[in-house]
Amino acid sequence: MTKPKIAFYWCASCGGCEEAVVDLGEDLLTIVELVEVAFWPVALDFKREDLDALDDGELAASFINGAVRTSEQEEMARLLRRKSAAVVAFGSCAMLGGVPGLANLYESRDILDLVYHEAPSVQNDAGTLPAQECRVAEGELTLPAFGASVRTLGQVIDVDYYLPGCPPPTGLIASAVTALVEGKLPGKGAVLAPDVALCSECPRAATKPDKLLVRAFRRPHQVLIDPELCLLAQGLICLGPATRAGCAAACPGGNMPCTGCMGPTSSVVDYGAKALSAIASLLDADGEDEIAKRVAEIADPVGTFYRYSLPDSLLHRRVRPKARELEEEVAP
Ligand code: SF4
Ligand code: SF4
Repeated sequence: MTKPKIAFYWCASCGGCEEAVVDLGEDLLTIVELVEVAFWPVALDFKREDLDALDDGELAASFINGAVRTSEQEEMARLLRRKSAAVVAFGSCAMLGGVPGLANLYESRDILDLVYHEAPSVQNDAGTLPAQECRVAEGELTLPAFGASVRTLGQVIDVDYYLPGCPPPTGLIASAVTALVEGKLPGKGAVLAPDVALCSECPRAATKPDKLLVRAFRRPHQVLIDPELCLLAQGLICLGPATRAGCAAACPGGNMPCTGCMGPTSSVVDYGAKALSAIASLLDADGEDEIAKRVAEIADPVGTFYRYSLPDSLLHRRVRPKARELEEEVAP
């Protein structure tokens, strides 16, 4: 019997999502009994030509992790889309933009300046910046273009399913592949994780007060954390109430607040706005001065509430007034 073919690919990614596939351990052997891995360049010796050689739609599914920033990532995402019956946005970066998406707080030219000119460890007397084309003695070299902003996979190609998490929990990965093989995937557009808030599966849920008010926000290194008590009740910003379940509350179980990598449930439009409003509703402060004090206790508000989802948010990115001219110089 011919096995369905699948592909794994990474775009703007840290490699953690690929590790998560390897972390399946022995379950990976069960999966390769059921499917043929036809393209997985990070782990096996596949080349672009192997993908080109496949017929359109020949792959049953492509699991693509990482956000999209460069022209090469966009080109590969489009090619995989053409070759695949289904595309799964794998992990927070592909689904929401992820941590690399925080680069959308800066213009692309500012990022290049920092990395190639201003970083203390850089010596670049000629002020060279990467060029898309460069002639050397051996011939012409080319580099992918660096895009104007970080985009989610769904902002570039049509996506069929989403596997959330940073990285996705191995149980959800195995269930997704099994559902694919058995033809039991839900309707297009589904997020392959429970559609309830994380608090519902948190071992600390029973200790979360019905009426919770926070008098001071604290960061994990500023407090000796009670291992049983709800973290929000201890003044730690735990985003469990705004975040989708499916990770078995791994972070609160490990004494760390949820930072929101599983993204929102289906009823939420903008994850960061939802998380911000969930936390703001807990403020126990009278008057503007006290409110300002509480707010000042939240270090890096964008990084706290939009850590994984800035490109997917209604804002998408920060634009400075002169951005448009700069963009035209560097956009693909
Ligand atoms: S979702 Fe997390 S683990 Fe996966 S590539 Fe992005 S940062 Fe890495
Ligand atoms: S620790 Fe976090 S996830 Fe657990 S019940 Fe409290 S707020 Fe919810």
